Amino acid sequence: MIKFLDLKKINEPYEAAFQDKLKLVLENGWYILGKETEIFENAFSAYCNSEYCIGVGNGFDALVLIFKGYIQLGKLKKGDEVIVPANTFVASILAILEAGLIPVFIEPKLETYNINPDLISEKLTSKTKAILVVHLYGQLAEMTAIKEIANQNNLLVIEDAAQAHGAVLDLTSSGRVQKVGNLSHAAAFSFYPGKNLGALGDGGAVTTNDDKLSKTIQSLRNYGSEAKYQNEYLGVNSRMDELQAAFLNVKLPNLDTENSMRRAIAKRYLAEIKNEKIELPFWDYSENHVFHLFVIRTEHRDHLQDYLSKNGIQTMIHYPISPHKQKAFSDWNHLSFPVTEMIHNEVLSLPISPVITNDEVSFIIEALNKY
Ligand SMILES: *Cc1c(COP(=O)(O)O)cnc(C)c1O
Repeated sequence: MIKFLDLKKINEPYEAAFQDKLKLVLENGWYILGKETEIFENAFSAYCNSEYCIGVGNGFDALVLIFKGYIQLGKLKKGDEVIVPANTFVASILAILEAGLIPVFIEPKLETYNINPDLISEKLTSKTKAILVVHLYGQLAEMTAIKEIANQNNLLVIEDAAQAHGAVLDLTSSGRVQKVGNLSHAAAFSFYPGKNLGALGDGGAVTTNDDKLSKTIQSLRNYGSEAKYQNEYLGVNSRMDELQAAFLNVKLPNLDTENSMRRAIAKRYLAEIKNEKIELPFWDYSENHVFHLFVIRTEHRDHLQDYLSKNGIQTMIHYPISPHKQKAFSDWNHLSFPVTEMIHNEVLSLPISPVITNDEVSFIIEALNKY
């Protein structure tokens, strides 16, 4: 069977280095927010070309702490509205709510699955204070257009970069290469094991160029305390685990290579899948996509998934129910977002990862073309 995601195989090449790190952490005798965290924070901010990186407990907390940080700094206040794509993983929306802010949903583009910038302006009110962009499935949202809207309306732009570690926005016009994590006021990353840069447990980080925000989040993640037992803010416990930081230090140098391997598979899928019943995702073949997921669409989604499963190919659905239709959000169940709903009804994620072989990719393509 071709697994959708073989995490054991993904982590296998790093096993010896992980063992060394475990030994090192045991020798250091320091388990939370220590040397390895600091090394990781420096390495990851350098990787993203951002000034600061703050390691936290997970991706959700990274998002919440950005919002809470801006609330502490007076740039946001409870009840402010935050623009967010209607089709995203539920964590993006829960994070807005957790910080006491109000999500305002925007439809995506069917081709890229990312927020449609043309639809943002009509949803802006005097209470709109921020845009939370999500680089869904690993492809950058249309940052140039989004930032223009934000600049005109004095809005914060925050990235949910949980699926897009390493994606590059190539601004050749200005001669500068900019990367995810450095395309907005602040970005949230997750190192959940299945992400492109995955730990062996939970982990997350915020990147930003804002030194005040960085300092505030450093304090908020540790009970709002800078000096021990002195609490300046109403903080939380979301500290980075030393072991996870150590494992990430092992994997980070290989992230670009692993992302290129994902792109190579995506290129094959895009070139070789030929079936009228299947819609392929849009990609401009630049490095703006790191293919966390390769997501096709078909009206016959459940049938196709069943067919592939019978052929020994495991697929997943990201995601089967749109956030506004979730039971947890019963207040919004009456809302209508046709593009979002269509996406949730039709999407299917094919296996893609640095450890899938060319033969396996050929087998998947052949099965799809025969469907
Ligand atoms: C994974 C993910 C998160 C949350 O990250 P966790 O580490 O699981 O808390 C947030 N947003 C998106 C888009 C994600 O894919």
